[in-house]
Amino acid sequence: MKVYLMKPNPESDPYWFPKNCFHCDNPPCVKVCPVGATFKRTDNAVLVDADRCIGCKFCVSACPYSARIVNWIDTPSYSGKDPNYSPETSVPSQHGVIGKCDFCVDRAREGKLPYCAASCPMGVIYYGDRNEDSVTNGEETLRFSQLIKDRAAFRYLEELGTQPNVYYLPPTERIFPYERGLNNISEEKRETALHSIQHTRKQ
Ligand code: SF4
Ligand code: SF4
Ligand code: SF4
Repeated sequence: MKVYLMKPNPESDPYWFPKNCFHCDNPPCVKVCPVGATFKRTDNAVLVDADRCIGCKFCVSACPYSARIVNWIDTPSYSGKDPNYSPETSVPSQHGVIGKCDFCVDRAREGKLPYCAASCPMGVIYYGDRNEDSVTNGEETLRFSQLIKDRAAFRYLEELGTQPNVYYLPPTERIFPYERGLNNISEEKRETALHSIQHTRKQ
């Protein structure tokens, strides 16, 4: 999950924009993979099989959302194939191949929320099965179709034809200062973040 600070125009207030892989229904990343290492499952998850990935990075260029990362970090404990490796968890990570959000499909099978949704202190992230028309953030469960209608949800850069499976709910009432998330981080990181916020506000 990457979290960006957004400011669409000089007059608007900045806001945070969390962004994971959108698990697109028409994923350009899958189309360009020369070895079938990244693939779309029938449950809508787009996954990467690191055992097949050759690290060509075609998918990194093809994804319009910058959702993929190259794992440059060597993993000393990993030598060849690991019997415990699974594309559903991407663990253990592998040097020189591609990583990204895997939609926490292993947790979904156990009836658990993804780590991002379960750990969000503001309950911002909802997760669910569109066929069941139900989403939850762990605190409340809502009807998906009603939620996206009531809140005028949109899909990021939908016009590209990628058909993302992540929807954004525009704020209707900002009930907390967006800097509140800075309360629980180190002094050094807070300074860096505040500098970034001030810089954004000046633009
Ligand atoms: S967001 Fe990018 S990496 Fe994820 S499925 Fe869509 S094109 Fe592929
Ligand atoms: S980097 Fe890996 S997953 Fe991406 S296109 Fe190349 S082989 Fe496929
Ligand atoms: S916690 Fe799971 S669903 Fe959330 S961004 Fe990370 S991999 Fe994706």
